Amino acid sequence: PKEEKLDFVRQIVADDIANGKNEGQVQTRFPPEPNGYLHIGHAKSICLNFGIAKQFGGKCNLRFDDTNPEKEDTEFVEAIEEDVRWLGFEWDKKLFASDYFDQLYDWAVQLIKEGKAYVCDLTFEEVREYRAGWNKEGKDSPYRDRTPEENLDLFERMKNGEFKDGEKSLRAKIDNSSPNMNLRDPAMYRIRHAHHHRTGDKWCIYPTYDYTHGQSDSLEGITHSLCTLEFENHRPLYDWYIEALGIHHPQQIEFARLNLSHTVMSKRKLLELVQSGLVSGWDDPRMPTIVGMRRRGFTPEALRNFCDRIGITKFNGLTELPMLELCIRDHLNRTANRAMVVLDPLKVVITNYPEGKSEMRQAINNPEDESAGTREMPFGRELFIERKDFMEEASKKYFGLTVGKEVRFKNAFFVKCNDAIKDDDGNIVELHCTYDPETSGGKAPDGRKVKGTLHWVSAEHAIDAEVRLYDVLFTQEKPENVEEGEDWKDNLNPESLKVLTGCKLEPSLAEAKVGDRFQFERMGYFCMDKDSQPGKPVFNRTVTLKDGFAK
Ligand code: ATP
Ligand code: MG
Ligand code: MG
Repeated sequence: PKEEKLDFVRQIVADDIANGKNEGQVQTRFPPEPNGYLHIGHAKSICLNFGIAKQFGGKCNLRFDDTNPEKEDTEFVEAIEEDVRWLGFEWDKKLFASDYFDQLYDWAVQLIKEGKAYVCDLTFEEVREYRAGWNKEGKDSPYRDRTPEENLDLFERMKNGEFKDGEKSLRAKIDNSSPNMNLRDPAMYRIRHAHHHRTGDKWCIYPTYDYTHGQSDSLEGITHSLCTLEFENHRPLYDWYIEALGIHHPQQIEFARLNLSHTVMSKRKLLELVQSGLVSGWDDPRMPTIVGMRRRGFTPEALRNFCDRIGITKFNGLTELPMLELCIRDHLNRTANRAMVVLDPLKVVITNYPEGKSEMRQAINNPEDESAGTREMPFGRELFIERKDFMEEASKKYFGLTVGKEVRFKNAFFVKCNDAIKDDDGNIVELHCTYDPETSGGKAPDGRKVKGTLHWVSAEHAIDAEVRLYDVLFTQEKPENVEEGEDWKDNLNPESLKVLTGCKLEPSLAEAKVGDRFQFERMGYFCMDKDSQPGKPVFNRTVTLKDGFAK
């Protein structure tokens, strides 16, 4: 068999195993900050970290990087766990960076004793001035030469709560002339009198992300620490801490983050959408969050397949939304049962069908999957069809009904339209048609052909439903690219949600449960929404059948 080409991260892992590095072991982690819900970008990182562990016989931890007490919450911890599991992955260990606060403190003391860290009294703004820009040389802090004894005393008093927020910080003593800003005496600890969702009020100093992340990796025996490209110029700092402390050295490897067209992905912006009420919540089906996509009807298989297809590279690019839609269509085509649903109903009366009678017709649940079986649906004198499946005047290319034309009603009969009934304003309210009972098998015994095949629902048996149609949340490919003074939220698509009521479902859908997915024949893929009430179902359109169809 042809050997599958490995992406560059997997190639590094494979080479390391071949060379006996880390005794041939592989340990990865997925390290979210519990300050929001996961989005499809996180799914890429999850698939990579858990995928590599699985492929190479290693293990992957779920580690919460919870060093920002004000923004974090157990609500997010629980949601993240659920999302990772829903995507189909199970972690080896569940860990929290906050569990390492004691160890991180001890290591900070060690660095102070060795003259590699100092307590600084400059304010946040002063520090920024002193560090200067990347094109200017930074200046040393006037507090840089404090003795280890003085620093130990001050650091302990910081921990004991003797100082106010921002009054002092602990900084690593590295190199203020480095072209890499991250090495200009970066902050290790800040004073924050804040309650932490796990450590409560034990601490009033909190370690920075940079000081926490690598040491957490090291403590967990991570072999390959995978992160996105923005962290490339943090790597020298990552390495510096680990080497200064003389502890296990994981290898940081950076890959390109996922950027998806017509969407924003930063948690800060997603939070803004939620808080400003521009979407209904983190799980609004238009959101690129995992909870949103799940509610919309996406499957874990489709998201994993998407992550596979986009691959792992070192180049930042923009992935087009249709690529994601392709993956979901592909999976739902194979797995979703078909149903007949009329979104915009137009009444059809079969004038030669006996009044008060109806009959059951057989329908195939999924032509792609024989094991899905068949179901029955009633056919009777009064039916609904899609309003756009009738035109008064139509070209030869039109496959719907028009007066004098015959089409096939799927799973039923040939039906011919004889008359279109209008109200006083000239709106068509009803079609009068006749059916040919001889065409029960979908073919006419006399061999005559029809071009169109329509879906329909028995009026007597139909279930009324609300159907929500979604379009892109933003009209621009890159909604965040805005001019000075403009707001990225101005790029929101005012037509991203269209709510249809009075849609007509075939009666078998009475059995549907929240989360069930269907292909509504000719209309797209749909998923039953959690807003459904007994007898009042609500469906979300997951995706159209084809690009641009049924918009
Ligand atoms: P955001 O900028 O959206 O807030 P983040 O990177 O701050 O994201 P974290 O919770 O820290 O969010 O992310 C956890 C992991 O997911 C990190 O390793 C991060 O690199 C990865 N990740 C986040 N966004 C993406 C993305 N768009 N593509 C790939 N990986 C991502
Ligand atoms: Mg982060
Ligand atoms: Mg962030």
